[in-house]
Amino acid sequence: MNATLFGFHNSYARLPEHFFARLSPTPVSDPRLVRINEDLAVRLKLDPAFLGSPEGVQILAGNRVPGDAEPLAMAYAGFQFGGWVPQLGDGRAILLGELADRDGVRHDVQLKGCGRTPFSRNGDGRAVLGPVLREYIVGEAMHALGVPTTRALAVVTTGEQVLREHSLPGAVLTRVAQSHIRVGTFQFFAARQDINALRLLADHVIDRHYPDARKSARPYLALLDAVVDAQAALVASWKLIGFIHGVMNTDNTSICGETIDYGPCAFMDTYYPGMVYSSIDQGGRYAYGNQAPIAHWNLAGFAQTLIPLIDSDAAQSLEMAQEIINTFPAKFEVAYNAGVREKLGFQSSKAEDPLLMADLLTIMADHQADFTLVFRRLCLVKTDNSSADGVVRALFDDPAAFDQWAARWRVRLGDEVNGKSGRQQRMLAANPAYIPRNHRVEEVIRAAEDHGDFAPFEKLHRVLQKPYDEQESDIEYQRPPRPEEIVQATFCGT
Ligand code: AMP
Ligand code: MG
Repeated sequence: MNATLFGFHNSYARLPEHFFARLSPTPVSDPRLVRINEDLAVRLKLDPAFLGSPEGVQILAGNRVPGDAEPLAMAYAGFQFGGWVPQLGDGRAILLGELADRDGVRHDVQLKGCGRTPFSRNGDGRAVLGPVLREYIVGEAMHALGVPTTRALAVVTTGEQVLREHSLPGAVLTRVAQSHIRVGTFQFFAARQDINALRLLADHVIDRHYPDARKSARPYLALLDAVVDAQAALVASWKLIGFIHGVMNTDNTSICGETIDYGPCAFMDTYYPGMVYSSIDQGGRYAYGNQAPIAHWNLAGFAQTLIPLIDSDAAQSLEMAQEIINTFPAKFEVAYNAGVREKLGFQSSKAEDPLLMADLLTIMADHQADFTLVFRRLCLVKTDNSSADGVVRALFDDPAAFDQWAARWRVRLGDEVNGKSGRQQRMLAANPAYIPRNHRVEEVIRAAEDHGDFAPFEKLHRVLQKPYDEQESDIEYQRPPRPEEIVQATFCGT
């Protein structure tokens, strides 16, 4: 590989100049490699050995810019916790360019934590090692779990301290996304009534992510429909694995339907629908159980930005957009219920299935059961009798509550037209054994930030690469936190 050329495309840099600010990353004093994601590098047709070389590390730290990159910080706006913020933008991230992967799909390559930009407001443009490792661990775990997500290509430390509540080690994350265009990117131009920019942005997104929309008689309405589909599927997949994003602001809502911006995110241990970890989410706006209605609200905001493009008659546009937005709850239910059937081992679909799931969740909440382990251990019980139910029963503080539910579940399994064969294998592929439990992520961060020890990071990352494959040696990573290990709150760390 030529040392200075990555093979970047720069389609976003071809958009009008007020879409972004052109600038290079701010160099750091002593960059050191923490990790290269070799699999992802190879997918992107990059040479992992080069990325990990002294010259590669200079690039990943922002000290050198590849010859074919056109670095820029993207402008966007957004609703944060329901309040309008007209100007956000990449305050500490710089897009280097776009790379086609082995299948020809283009991805943004962005350095996060690489210095101030015109959008930094009061921020220092830097990222702290701990949250960078969290983004790496959780993002790659999500990918392995089959959830659409931005990914981490590399982490380097900067050799510089970053001042938060304490002085903490700085780091740069190389983030890869199908694109970093957000609902908030559209809202930035809509608020300025810049219809021309909106059209260019929408056309860019259609070309890049939703080319089929072009074939529709109303491409911008088809775009809305496709984004609604993608977000419904995404948020359903979060719900099915107990994931709480934590900051579902419109600037953190990706147009291509990937999970983006791993800040105070968390996986639930004990099931509780109102669960909130984020220290900044005082009102519980982004609680686990609110995520679908919030995605719906965010999409309504997206729809509003498209009104001037859909039809020249605004009333007509609004009516058509509203009709699409109204489909969100049903689309979400379809995606969620399909996942529920997989989790419970059903191949057929019955009207009673959503209630069966809801009732299981209710008894889990009432009896303090661990979300991930209940489903995982349900894979292991016997289909015809309850003799092996002990492993699941033990997860409820009143096991009898589970017994009644299990009897109903067995009756339902008996209705399966194709019989019960393969049930266990199918369930094991739908119910992970390993999730990035908060206490484990915390352990990784503490070891790295306090002691420069990356062994726990490497270990947790390795375990989470195969979340559905149980390894005897990794059994400890399935364990929920002990009372003294429970993480009560998570922080953005920005
Ligand atoms: P977030 O809450 O991480 O999604 O970020 C919200 C906004 O704050 C975005 O515009 C970020 O670019 C910006 N931001 C977050 N952290 C920093 C930082 N350390 N320096 C500058 N801008 C930041
Ligand atoms: Mg953000």
